[in-house]
This record gives sequence, structure tokens and C-alpha cells, in this order.
Amino acid sequence: MGVPPTRPADRAFARPRRRLLAAAAATIALLAVGAGVLVGLSTPAPRPADAPEGEFSAGRAFRNVEVIAAEPHVAGSAANDRVREHLVGTLRGLGLETEVQDAVAPEAGQLSGAAGGATLARVRNVVARLPGTDPTGKVFLVSHYDSVQAGPGGNDDAAGTAMILEVARALTTGPRPRNDIVFVLTDAEEACLCGAAGFAADHPLAREGGVVLNLEARGSTGPVIMFETSRNNAKLVEIFGKAAPHPVGTSFAVEIYRALPNDTDFTAFLDREFVGLNSAYIDGGAIYHTPLDVPARMDRGSLQMHGDNALGLAREFGRTDLGDLRAGHDDTYFPVLGGLVRYPGWLTLPLAVAALLAVGALGWLLRRRGRATAGTLAAGFGLTLVPVVAAPLGAWLLWAAITTIRPGYAELLDPYRPVWYRLAVVALSAAVLFCWYALLRRRVGPAALAFGGLAWLAVFGVLLAVAVPGGAYLTTVPALAGALAGFAALATRRDGPWPVVAVTLAAAVAVVILLPPVVLLFPALGMGMGAVAALVAVLLGLAVLPVVDLLHPRAGGQRGLLALRARRLGALPAAAAALAAVVLAGVGLAVDRFDAAHPVPTHLMYALDAGTGKAAWLTREEKPQPWTGGYVDGKVSIADDFPGLGATELRGGPATAAPLPAPKLELLSDTRTGDQRVLRVRVVPQRQVRLLTLHVDTGTATVRSASVAGRVVPVEPGEGKWGFGVVFHAPPPEGVEVTLTVEPRGGAVSVRAMDASDGLSAVPGFRARPEGVGVVGSHSSEMLAVARTYPL
Ligand SMILES: [Zn+2]
Repeated sequence: MGVPPTRPADRAFARPRRRLLAAAAATIALLAVGAGVLVGLSTPAPRPADAPEGEFSAGRAFRNVEVIAAEPHVAGSAANDRVREHLVGTLRGLGLETEVQDAVAPEAGQLSGAAGGATLARVRNVVARLPGTDPTGKVFLVSHYDSVQAGPGGNDDAAGTAMILEVARALTTGPRPRNDIVFVLTDAEEACLCGAAGFAADHPLAREGGVVLNLEARGSTGPVIMFETSRNNAKLVEIFGKAAPHPVGTSFAVEIYRALPNDTDFTAFLDREFVGLNSAYIDGGAIYHTPLDVPARMDRGSLQMHGDNALGLAREFGRTDLGDLRAGHDDTYFPVLGGLVRYPGWLTLPLAVAALLAVGALGWLLRRRGRATAGTLAAGFGLTLVPVVAAPLGAWLLWAAITTIRPGYAELLDPYRPVWYRLAVVALSAAVLFCWYALLRRRVGPAALAFGGLAWLAVFGVLLAVAVPGGAYLTTVPALAGALAGFAALATRRDGPWPVVAVTLAAAVAVVILLPPVVLLFPALGMGMGAVAALVAVLLGLAVLPVVDLLHPRAGGQRGLLALRARRLGALPAAAAALAAVVLAGVGLAVDRFDAAHPVPTHLMYALDAGTGKAAWLTREEKPQPWTGGYVDGKVSIADDFPGLGATELRGGPATAAPLPAPKLELLSDTRTGDQRVLRVRVVPQRQVRLLTLHVDTGTATVRSASVAGRVVPVEPGEGKWGFGVVFHAPPPEGVEVTLTVEPRGGAVSVRAMDASDGLSAVPGFRARPEGVGVVGSHSSEMLAVARTYPL
């Protein structure tokens, strides 16, 4: 047995020791770059309460977090009144003109979006103004001070609210800004974004628009991400990159967020042609909207990062000429090692096409130099689809297996301690890629496989440039860098160090571009959509294939036993990654158990028909947890009994009727003209409630027009028996007046009124949750609804 003769140029690299050295050097370089990426995404140390007065201090802001989030304070509650008084007192104490906007406001966007019907709320926004010295416009700092009904909103959004108090304090200590700064602490964001909508539509200070900085928290930790902008954002992004001390933001997030059904107050401002930026920290999503969203769970590093950026941006927008912030285009931008890189969006498609042409040229060159054939290039391209499909599929199957073992994860946005599962998905993606590579590199060849990876990155770049332009940089830039490295490698001596240097540099570019989305997509989408992060991880793997190749013995050349040894060595990375995936998933299951501090979330509601005395337990859980299973069994239709709940079918079970009154319906006037009746009614809650709903049986009358608390609402017919409905959040104790112009179908007009409060502990038959069982983060957890039909 002997080693067949190799060409002199190949010989040097064929030496295992030099190859090992090259592999080690490239790997260490990439690990260093990866560590740099993670440092760039990390949060700063929180500054203490005695930090200089011109700075943002998380220590000072946190004192306000503790006051604001002392207890749940849903819009309309006495607790929310107390929070509002604290805010007004604090802002007035800073010498700011402060007032409360008390109004009835519709939800943001079209007045028909909510499932239960047109939605409004009584809101009380706290608005304070720091007048500028020579204003060119207004800068609005916005956060919502209300919490969900189930939890105190320690992060969501006591963080944003306390930040605004601290930013206002810092701004009033220094020289006055040139532009007006307006602090807007909105009400009823959780219910319907109604506070922000009411401010943007009706408040005198909002009349001429301006720049909005919306401050949110959807979780408890992690870097602050600037994830949404108004359109034509180039100038805004330029200022963000310059003025935010920790500018983590990507145009890809803007695209993802537009595709998700989420909304914040920012939406209400975008509807009214404001410009601006929306930022939040989003990791630690397990506590989102739950009773566990308490101040103690807040990562004060995230608060510091958020506040640093808010203060930096407020100062910069405070001195910028706000006359022309609307550039003619969107920017592509992404974080690079603590900074922000950006280029105009109109470069996206030309760059993507350039990358595609460059990769095509590389393929042609590889063929000419005899590194690949037309056949292997085609095979490399076609077979690259295998890991692109297999890794996300594997991630999905892994999570399906984990949720089968631990069904409680179904109702969680993300596990309490998700890091092990995230690493397992990354390891699984690596295992898929390494396995695929080990199987193919002898048959197809390293050059053709590297070409296949780059070709798909380039193709994705073009597809993204057309469909999701803000995300095209993710694959275009690594493809371009890879192609250029390929040219450099082919232009230098094959046995010299330069090919390794070139492919390592290109791989470093890919790590810088693609590692942040892998890290940020996990908290953004949750483990249930870990497949998306797996896809990006595989794209990163494809971009670094030439470095992966260094981990394998040189392709070709060996025969017999040597070849067998080489093949065994080639299987090592795949085996190691697969083992890591299994171990990490196991560690996740062992570490992230449910207990008193990390309870399994459950959802329960109680609904009573005060007219018939019929009551039911209801849950939104698809597969009820054991605790919930004690109340509900099969699916029940609620469309006819509780149209105000905004669902047609839930899981339900029989309940004892509680002695609770339905809202009263007072007929104030009833005038008939022709075949129309104008019914003026007042819906009056008979207990402390969070919302009121009113529905008309469109089988008994057609609703021609309607107004609620003096506001006209749309009357497009909805589905089912109760074809017209309105939802009113935070109703005043004296009730809400509704005027209906209807065409009756002969008999009485059938109207159904419902109200809802929160908390089930007083309901007959309710048993307190045992330790380790908690409340799901939702807007309807623990809701107690009482309804009744009135003939008019
Ligand atoms: Zn919220």
C-alpha cells in the first residue's frame, strides 16, 4: 500500500500537520469573531442610583419600576389611578407642564379589527412637555403605564415608563433642547392601544406629528433591539447609529415584525403619519403578561441599555432639524461588533445580482482550473438543499419531541431557561451540516460543495431582495464575501497560507452577519419556531464550508486503510455535534423543570349567563393541562352565549352559577321614524369590571348606524347570530351610552350585554392553583364574564 503521487502544489497542504495548524488557526479566529459578536449584543452594567445627574441610571429608574409595578394595574382600575398619580406628581416635580388627557378613544387602526366587535376605551394619558428653545418640531417619548390584568407589568411596560421618568429627569438637569420633547405615558395599551390612538388622533400636541421613540419590553432580559421604524427610514437610522450608545437593530427585524400579528402603541402613531423608532428587549419571554412579570425579574442591564439609547436619541433628536426626517428610501442596516452598518435600500437588488454573478463566475473559474466539473457543480448546488431543508425539519422534530415529554411548554412563549434548547438546535443544525458534508465531500468535492453553498446564499439574496429587502443582506453579503475569497484563493499558490486566510476572512464576515440573527431569532420567535433559527444557522454553516473542510482530512488521494481512517475522522465533527445536541436537549429537560418559581402556565375563565343561570368554565388551552382538565372537557360553542369573548369555540365544562349581576341595560329613549328605530341605551356595570360589551341579534334587526359614548362606530355585519358588537374597555362606573339606529324585523330587538372582571378566587367551585401551576400570559386569563339578553 502506498500513497499515490500527488502534484507538487498539493503536497504541502496534504501534510496533515500543516492542515491541522490551518484548521486550528481558522477555528480560533472564527471563535474570536463569534465572541466579539456576542459581546456586541451584550447589555451594559447597570449604573447605580448615585450616577452623575446627566446620565441615565438604571438604579434610579428601577425605584420607579418598583412603584409602578407594585401590583397589577389594568386600565380603569384603582391601582392604575394610583400609578397615574405617581407619574403626574413625578413629572410636575421636574417642573414640566403635565396634564392628563381624559378621553374615549377607539383602538388603533380600523375600528373593526377586534374579534368581539368595534373596540373603544376610556383612557387617561399622562402628557408632559419640555418646551424647546427654538423648536423645529416635536420629539415624543412614548410608553404605556397600564399593565395586563394578570400581572403587574414589571417589564411591560413599567420599564418604558420608568425610563421616561429618568430620561425626563436627565433632560431637565442639562441645557434645554432646541426641539420640544413630549413625554407620553399612554393608557389601555394592553386592551386596545386606545390610549396611543386617542393621543395621536385628538391631542393638540400631536397635531403636527413628529418623531416617536416608543419604548417597550416583551420579556425580562436580553439586548434592546430597535425592531420597527416608520417607512423611508434612512435618516432616522443614520441618527440611531450615531446617537444610540448600543445600536442593536436590523432591517431584517423590521420585516419580521411586519409579518407578525403583534402591535404596540407605535402602530397608532404610524397610522397618523408620525415617524420614529420602536425598541424593546425581548428575551425572557416566559414571564410576558403573567403574574411573574414583577420588578425583581427585570435584568437591570437591559434597563440600562434601553435607557442609554432613549436618552442618547432624545438628546440627538432634540437638537436635530426635524424638518426633513423622511428620506426617500429605507436603509438596510445591521449590527456589526457594537456598531451599526447601513447602506441604502436601493442597493439591495444590485448587490444581490452582483453576488449571484460573482458566484457564477467563481463556478466557471473552478471548472476551468479543474477543481470541479459541470456535473459536480450541479450536484453541489442541488444537494445543498438537503441541509437547508433537513436542519429546520430536525429542529421542529426536536421541539415536538421535547413538548411531548413536557406538554406544559405548549402555552409558553419560550421556556423559562431556554439557553440549553437553543444550543441544542444550533448543535443539531451543525450535526446535519457536518453529516451531509462528510458524506458528500469525497464524491462531489470540497470546491463544488462550497460553490453550492455560496450559490444558494446568492439565490436567497435575490429572492429576499425582491420579497423582503431588509433581510437580503443576510445572504447577499456572505455570498459576495465567499465569492471574492474564492477568487483570491484561486489567484494565489495553493500550498501557501493565502487561500486559508481568504476563506477564513470570508467566513468571519458570515459570522458577523449571520450569528446575530441566530442569537436574536430564538427569543423573537420562541422555541416553537426554532426551525427559523436553525435555517439561519445552516446558512451560516454553508458560508463557512471551506473552513469546515479544514476540519476534515484532505479530500482524495488516499486509498485503502488510510482512506478508511480519513472517512472515520471525517465523521467526527458530525458525531460530536449530534452528541452535543442530544446532551444539550437532555440538560434543558433536566434544568428547566416546572416549580413554584417557574410554574406551568394554565388558562381559565368563568362565564355566567345571569338570565338563564347557566355557567361554564372555559379555557383557551388546546390540550388542557391536568389542572385545567379538572374544569373543562370537550369543545363548546360560545358564539351564541358569549359573543363578547371574541371566540367562537373554546374548551369548556359546567360550572355552578355565581350570584353575580349582569350589566344593566337602561333604555333612555326609543324613537320611531318610518321603519327605523333609534334606541338610546345605557349599559351600566353592576360591579367592578374591566370591560363591557354590547351585541345586537342581527336576526331581530339590522343595525344601520351606531355610536358609543358619542363616537360613531362602523356597522359592517359580523359572523353569526350577534352580527353587530362593540367592546368598551375601562368603562366608568356610571356606564356607557350607546345609540343604535336599527331596522327591526317585526318583533323586539334582541340585545346582549356582557361585562368582565378579573380574578376567579371568589367563584363557587374554584380551587386555588397548587404550587408549580401558574397563569398563562394572556389578556383573558382569570376573566370572569357575566352576560344577559335584553329584548327592546
Ligand atoms: Zn404588553
